[in-house]
Amino acid sequence: MDWRERGLCLSEDPDLFFPVARVNSGQWAMQTDEAKDVCRQCPVTKRCLAWALDAGPVEGIWGGTTEGERRAMRRRAARRPAVTGAAA
Ligand code: SF4
Repeated sequence: MDWRERGLCLSEDPDLFFPVARVNSGQWAMQTDEAKDVCRQCPVTKRCLAWALDAGPVEGIWGGTTEGERRAMRRRAARRPAVTGAAA
């Protein structure tokens, strides 16, 4: 079974995960928090977040994060030194 078929958001209003209000407005924050509450209880949060990080810029709440939060996570990961696995 694909992880997407196990997402709790399937039983929610899809609009909840794609806030249309101005970013960082009160309405946007309320809707984002409500969507994140669903993600926190979801059994596939880690896989969903990994997908969204790999996919690049995608709108909406995925894996309990906003696009802005994922952008920051990608920037932090890009600044981290690569692990080569070679013994020094
Ligand atoms: S983590 Fe959130 S967006 Fe991802 S499948 Fe679960 S409920 Fe849906």
